[in-house]
Amino acid sequence: MNVRRRLISATAVTAATALGLGALSACSSDSAATGNTDKFDVVASFYPMAFLAEQIGGDHANVTSLTEPGQEPHDLEISTKQRAQLEEADAALFLKGLQPAVDEAVSQTGIKTKIDAAGLTTLEDHGSTEHEHEGEGEEGHAEEEEHARDPHIWLDPVKYAEVAEGVGKAFEKADPDHAADYKKNTAALVKKLNGLDGEFENGLKDTRTKVFFTNHAAFGYLAERYGLTQEAISGLDPESEPSAARVKELQQEAKADGVTTVFYETLVSDKTAKTLAKDAKLKTDVLDPLEGITDKSRGDDYFQVMEANLKALQAALGAK
Ligand code: ZN
Repeated sequence: MNVRRRLISATAVTAATALGLGALSACSSDSAATGNTDKFDVVASFYPMAFLAEQIGGDHANVTSLTEPGQEPHDLEISTKQRAQLEEADAALFLKGLQPAVDEAVSQTGIKTKIDAAGLTTLEDHGSTEHEHEGEGEEGHAEEEEHARDPHIWLDPVKYAEVAEGVGKAFEKADPDHAADYKKNTAALVKKLNGLDGEFENGLKDTRTKVFFTNHAAFGYLAERYGLTQEAISGLDPESEPSAARVKELQQEAKADGVTTVFYETLVSDKTAKTLAKDAKLKTDVLDPLEGITDKSRGDDYFQVMEANLKALQAALGAK
C-alpha cells in the first residue's frame, strides 16, 4: 500500500512540473471556467468537504468537487483540467491524509485560501488491521505513523461539527463581505450535527452487542464516540484484500461477540464482505462511509445517509 501511494505522488509531481506554464496561461484566458465565477469559488476534495462548503457557503459560494459522484476517493488522481480549476479557485477545502494526489496538487497551487480539514480537529491513530511493517528503522516508523492517522473524521458528527466551525471561520476571513451569512450558516449546520450526535447517542446506548464488521476501517471515530468496536475486513484503504488469517479471525470473533451482520459500502466491491458473511452465516447490509453520494446511496445528503446508517447499526447491534 505504501509503495503504491509513493508511486502516485511521484507521478503527480512530474505532471505538475510539466504543466506549470500551461496552467498559468489557461488562467488568464479562460474566465468562464468553473473556478472563476462571480461567486466565492470553492474547490472541495470529495463529498464530505463539498457538503460543508455548500452548507456554509450557501448562495455566495460556487462549490465544485474534485472527486466525481460514485468515484472512490482514496486513490483519486488529479487531471490537468482539475489543476487549472484549483489554480483559479478562491479556496480549496480538503482533508490531508485521505487523498495523496489532492494534498500534492493543493500544496503546489498558488491558491490563496487552503483549508485543511484535518487541521481543524484532532486526528487519531486507530491502527490498521492489516498493517505492513517495513522494517523497524527510524524512517520506517515515522512513515507508518503518518499512514496510521485515520482521516475519516466526518463520520463522527462531533468532529465534523468542529471542522464545520473551522471552515466557517476560514470562509469569513477569505470572503469578508459575506461573513455574517457564513457565521449564520455554520451555526445552523453545527446545531443540526449536534442533533444527529444526540440521535446516535440515544439510539446506540442500549444494544445486544457493541461489535460491527465493516468493509474498510472508515468508522473508527464513530465507533469510539458511541462506545462501539469496529472490525474492518480491509484496513483504512477500501481496495485492499484481507488475508486468509484475518478472515478466520473475523469468523471466530463473529461467534464470540454475537455479530449478526457484515456491512459493505456503495462505492467499492461487496465481494469480500459477502463471501465472509456467507462463510460465517451472517447477514449483510450497507453502512455507508459517505465518501460519495450516488443513486445507490440511502439518501440524498450527509444527514439522510447518516440517519440510514444509524438504523442499520441499530438493527445489526440489536438495539433495545
Ligand atoms: Zn475511507
